[in-house]
Amino acid sequence: KANRKFHPDDTVVDVSGVKIGGGNFAVMAGPCSVESEAQIVEVARRVQKSGASLLRGGAFKPRTSPYSFQGLRAEGLELLSKARAATGQPIVTELMSSEHIPLFLQEKVDMIQIGARNMQNFELLKAVGRTNVPVLLKRGLSATLEELVMSAEYIMAEGNPNVVLCERGIRTFETSMRNTLDLAAVPMLKKMTHLPVVIDPSHAAGIAFMVPSLAAAAVAVGADGLMIEVHNDPKNAKSDGAQSLTPDQFDELMDVIRPELEFFGKKL
Ligand code: PEP
Ligand code: MN
Repeated sequence: KANRKFHPDDTVVDVSGVKIGGGNFAVMAGPCSVESEAQIVEVARRVQKSGASLLRGGAFKPRTSPYSFQGLRAEGLELLSKARAATGQPIVTELMSSEHIPLFLQEKVDMIQIGARNMQNFELLKAVGRTNVPVLLKRGLSATLEELVMSAEYIMAEGNPNVVLCERGIRTFETSMRNTLDLAAVPMLKKMTHLPVVIDPSHAAGIAFMVPSLAAAAVAVGADGLMIEVHNDPKNAKSDGAQSLTPDQFDELMDVIRPELEFFGKKL
């Protein structure tokens, strides 16, 4: 179902009115973790003003250490709903367990994120495949493109065709950055599948100063969108502060990619 051979036209995924793919470019921005109502509403307002079309924010967090902040969980989803009510932006947030699907449906999460660490959690993929909520499927830390496409296939095989793929950096021998951004994944995935492909330069680089140039590069290789971490106070963020842009820095990034999108004929 994901194979380009049998579906020559680009798929456009509609996330509560925001279109991704087929010439429609979407920017998802927001903090790594939802931390408080004041934080998420402030960031939502700022990124919307700069041109983001979706609000991201983690409520259930896949942290390397069990002693790190695990997210506000159900309360985090409620705060995302409040931010959505304030700005009207659809929300995208990570689902880590199928146990939480009823909660996600109850809060009307607009797009379900499957994180890199769960890309091959096949039962979880099947479970989101049985909903009709659009899915943002992130590439695993050391997954091949074929494996990523097969994971999309798991979701689609259960009846949910609304899948967006996300390249977020992979593990290589390089240690100076958190991950290595595989920009070549975009043209290759577009050859392999008809699904939209977005780039997350924040988790790829792990360092804020690189995010704007990698975002510009993502547009140039034909990505259908971006996921960017933005925090109102990166130094004191509960997760991923080092890679988070301030709202002002995000605003500058948008000023760089706007003319670029126009050049490539993409609609923001
Ligand atoms: C995230 O988006 O905050 C996240 C944990 O991403 P990934 O699964 O790509 O590491
Ligand atoms: Mn993060």
